[in-house]
Amino acid sequence: MTDSEQTDIDLLTAVARGVIELAATNHLPAFQLPYPPSVQLALDRVVLAGLTHDGPIPTGVPDLMAWCRRPGLTGWPLELPGTLLTADARLIHPAVWEPTRTCTELASVGPQGVSEQEAEALLMGLADVCGTVERFADCRDFLIQRPVILRFDPMDLLQPARAQTWNLVKGLYGPLPARFGADEVVHCCTGCGLLAKPVTAEGPWCEGGCPSEGREFDMSHEPRLSRALPLSLRLLLALPGRTELAVRAQFTERARLIPRGLGVHRVNHPDGSFRVFQIHDREQPGLAALRAADTAARLGEPLSIVVPDGPAYPGYRQRFELTLPTDAQVRIFSASEFTGSGPIVRARRSHA
Ligand SMILES: [Zn+2]
Repeated sequence: MTDSEQTDIDLLTAVARGVIELAATNHLPAFQLPYPPSVQLALDRVVLAGLTHDGPIPTGVPDLMAWCRRPGLTGWPLELPGTLLTADARLIHPAVWEPTRTCTELASVGPQGVSEQEAEALLMGLADVCGTVERFADCRDFLIQRPVILRFDPMDLLQPARAQTWNLVKGLYGPLPARFGADEVVHCCTGCGLLAKPVTAEGPWCEGGCPSEGREFDMSHEPRLSRALPLSLRLLLALPGRTELAVRAQFTERARLIPRGLGVHRVNHPDGSFRVFQIHDREQPGLAALRAADTAARLGEPLSIVVPDGPAYPGYRQRFELTLPTDAQVRIFSASEFTGSGPIVRARRSHA
């Protein structure tokens, strides 16, 4: 990778962090001054890149946000490695004006990364208060199964069977961003369990990017009673968590959680080997490869990355392996390859 490419990756990740921060405080089309400092800084860097490359220059933050909606980052004064992002990559969904999964993944790259790092910090805080790995594993599974609680009912959550878990995790849930409760109705996708909007200019949308055919939605007319995990935990823990639960269920011996980062598991594989694995459900294989290499380095042992089965897998795998640093102790598998069990129905559908 050239210095110029690295500089441009750093710039794009700075813009992604700005979009994430702006979306946390604003509805992206309804810009309100003052902008978060990260957004202003990102704008300044894009302007400088445009001047340096004699390329286009955004006229301000609203213009930069419009750039973020273009597929393939067309028109940006950037030189990026060809395998880093897919051809349709963009930072903001054009119809719903929400940060894309690509944006969250970009905002996790590098020493100043925020999204995956936020999710990891929240989980580490939870592990500390849980005290034991078993209790933390129960709490982590609760978060995976309930990233969005459409109809918050304290009496239900305080039943004896789940009261202890709820008391440990409840601080991670917050009210929905106001924009999701507009029109006094809020939707949740039954496939991925995440927030959704069934009617947009580009058709139904959900945060997990479920296939449009067969997608169904649950709804509530009382958005004030809805609760959700932060975006980082919704996309980087709960979304892959659906596949993780299906993969773990394939092993006769229970996979043991290693409470590090987003969570990795160690399992006695049917082929006789011990495997350490983490599930990914991401849009950008190149960015996922960089994060996987970082996770494996922190673990200090070989890591298997397992991704959902599906028609996109062969291309995803190819781009992942092309970007993976040569010294990384990482291998990528589809869920059915990893369990050796034959095709696993894409988990988000099987849990619908
Ligand atoms: Zn979905």
